[in-house]
Amino acid sequence: MIRVRFAPSPTGNLHIGGGRTALFNWLYARAKNGKFVLRIEDTDKERSKKEFVDEILGSLSWLGFNWDEIYYQSQRFDIYTREAQRLLKEGKAYTEKLPDKPGEAIIFKVEPQKIKVNDLIRGEIEFDSQTIKNQVLIKSDGTPTYNFACVVDDALMDITHIIRGDDHISNTPKQILIYQALGYKTPEFAHLPLILGAEGGRLSKRTGATAISEFRAFGYLAEALVNYLLLLSWAPGDNRELIDIKEAIKIFDIKQVNKTAATFDINKLNWINNQYLKNADTEMLLGLIIPMLEEKKYIDKDNFDRNYVKTLVQLFQARLSVVNDFVDWADFFFLKDIPIDPAAKEKHLSRDLSKEFSLFIQRLDALDDFKIESIETAFRELVKELGIEAKVLIHPVRVALTGKTIGPGLFEVIYYLGKERTKERLSKFIIPNLIG
Ligand code: GLU
Repeated sequence: MIRVRFAPSPTGNLHIGGGRTALFNWLYARAKNGKFVLRIEDTDKERSKKEFVDEILGSLSWLGFNWDEIYYQSQRFDIYTREAQRLLKEGKAYTEKLPDKPGEAIIFKVEPQKIKVNDLIRGEIEFDSQTIKNQVLIKSDGTPTYNFACVVDDALMDITHIIRGDDHISNTPKQILIYQALGYKTPEFAHLPLILGAEGGRLSKRTGATAISEFRAFGYLAEALVNYLLLLSWAPGDNRELIDIKEAIKIFDIKQVNKTAATFDINKLNWINNQYLKNADTEMLLGLIIPMLEEKKYIDKDNFDRNYVKTLVQLFQARLSVVNDFVDWADFFFLKDIPIDPAAKEKHLSRDLSKEFSLFIQRLDALDDFKIESIETAFRELVKELGIEAKVLIHPVRVALTGKTIGPGLFEVIYYLGKERTKERLSKFIIPNLIG
C-alpha cells in the first residue's frame, strides 16, 4: 500500500510551498488508495510552537487535506535514541564529546560510495558521498537531527514515497546512507520543482510567500487555491486550467509532475478564484461576507435585511476576484457618507451638473414604478432630450452615487440604492439656484 507523509516543522505558518507539498502527498495517497500521514517535526524545542501546529493543522483542514494518521516527533525521542544506539553497537556510528557541551553526540560514519536516486519526477540523480561529511545523528543535548529522525520515522512509519520540495534534494543522499546503515528499505523519492516569485528568485513575502491562512483571510476559496496549487506543478492536459479535486484524484500520477520550476502568479490565482466565485453558492458566500460586514459595522448583526444583502452579493458575485472585494466595492450600499475617489471626482464631477441631476431627479420622482427598466428608460429619454451621449451623464451619476468609476450596471445600482438615497446623493452636487 502506498503511504506518503507531509512533515512540517511547526516553526512558522503553512505557506504556499508547504501547501503545495501537502497537496501532492495527499492527492497521491487519495489517487492510489493509500494513506496520508501527517508528521509534526517538532524536535527543535526552542523554535517549535503550539500556535504554529494549530495554524498548520487548521490550514490543512481548510484546504481539505484530511490525514489518516498523525505523529509528533517530540514524543518519539526514545525511538531515535534506540536506533542510534543500535548503529553505535554495530560500529556504524561513534560518540563524540564536544568541549563545553554536557552529553555526547552520536555521529554516523559516512563511507565513500556513489549514491544513485531514481527520482520519480527528475529521473536519475547521482551523488558522490565524498562530498558528504560524517553526520550527527543525536546532538549532545539528546535531540535527534532532522536527517536522522526523518529516516527513522519514514522507515518505521512504512512510508513508501517521499514527496517533498526540491530544496531537500541535498538531504536525500545523506538519508539514503542512513537507511542502508539501519537496514531499512529505501523508499521512492519525488522532488517537487521550486516555486519562484513573480520576478524570478525565491518566493518572498512580497511575491506570494504568504501563509495559507492569510489567503483564506483575504477571501480566496479553498477549492480555488487548491486548483491553483495543483496547476503550479501539474497539468490535467488539454490546456485545462480549472479542475475539480475529485476529478484530479481520478487521473493524477506523481510521474506527471512538472520538472521545471513553477512561478507564483497572483493574477492567475485571482482569475481562478473569480471562476470559482462566479459559480459559488451565494448562501455560502453570504456566510463569509456577513461577518466581514459586521466587522466593518456596515450592518448590525441583530438587525439587517439578509435578503437585501444576498441580492447585493448576487449583483457583484461574477466580478469578485476575492470575497473581500465585495466589502470594498459594495461599501456605498451600506455607508451613509460614501468616500468618493478624488481622481473620479476630478474627472467626472468637476463641472456643474445641477441641471442634469435636477432633471434626472424629477424623472425619477415622476416614475409610477421604480424598477430597473423604468429607471433606464427615464434616463435614456432624458439624455436624448438633452442631446448628449448617455456616457456623458452615466459616469457622473455613477461617481456621485457610488464614489467609484466601476461597478455593476448603473440602473441596478440606482434600483438597489433606492429612490431616496439616489436623490440625496445626487442633490449634494446640485448648486442651489439663488435667483430662481
Ligand atoms: N520538516 C522538514 C521540512 O519542513 C521535512 C522535510 C521532508 O519532507 O523530509 O522541511
